[in-house]
Amino acid sequence: MRRGREDTSPCAICNAASYQCIEKDGYRLYRCGECGHLFLYPIPALDELREGYAAENTDFVRNPESTFEHLEKSETTCARAMERLDRVFRQGEAAGSREFLDIGAGAGKLMRRAQGFGWSVRGIEPGPWGQEAAERHHLEILPIMIEDMPSSDLFRGKGYDLITMIDVLEHLQDPVRAMGIVTRFLNPGGSLVLQFPCCDSLGFWSRRRRWPLILLPGHIHYFSRKSFEFLAGRQCLSIDEAITNAHTPVLPRAYIGPIGRVDRILKHLVSQVGLGDMRIVFLSRNSPQEVDVQLQGMP
Ligand SMILES: [Zn+2]
Repeated sequence: MRRGREDTSPCAICNAASYQCIEKDGYRLYRCGECGHLFLYPIPALDELREGYAAENTDFVRNPESTFEHLEKSETTCARAMERLDRVFRQGEAAGSREFLDIGAGAGKLMRRAQGFGWSVRGIEPGPWGQEAAERHHLEILPIMIEDMPSSDLFRGKGYDLITMIDVLEHLQDPVRAMGIVTRFLNPGGSLVLQFPCCDSLGFWSRRRRWPLILLPGHIHYFSRKSFEFLAGRQCLSIDEAITNAHTPVLPRAYIGPIGRVDRILKHLVSQVGLGDMRIVFLSRNSPQEVDVQLQGMP
């Protein structure tokens, strides 16, 4: 099929040519021919996103209370991710008070978990539910976006030993720029933990436009393994561990009786072989010396 100019756009992550691959509800998703990244195009403007979150617009975000809850479930590979995160929290506990930043803090559940291990905690959350959680639980949750951090006085001179971005990456207008900002606030040797939908998954391959994680226009980016590695490499971040979890049902009508039980077994198997549609990735910031070596090796 001959493609017209309107069918192509530079990849939001690696800049290679990307082609329209899915149309849904009047929105178009493009797929990069080089890194496999899937993204909404045109990408909404930053002000449009800011207004959407501030107004609790359900086109952009649904059920903020659920943030991180599925990581606490014990039946899937999420348990492995939660155990690993708790190990990071325990290391902080052993080292005395350490600094934790939760980006997209939602209702502050993860911040409270970190506090339990003795960490100093701060969150950012552009949606109004962040302020409700801050008042209810006496937490410091700032109503700002990643892009506002460099100009905020509250972030001047700050560095964090652990930063989490759970269900955030897919919502960002420009993940390359945003990750550059986040990395600047990560102390050398510090850890960064992300969870995001992955398009190198059985969920996407089997359902395409009907994949339940295609939520438009809120979910702008769907990372492949390669596009995420490209993003991390640009910031000189090392991937320590990547865990996949089958987040959405494998079988149709999986919420009904016995089918639901079979589906839970299938989800577990899909997660075990690394084809789940959610990825939880643990990264660390390299020391300045390692960054120098890495940069020398780049073209
Ligand atoms: Zn690409």
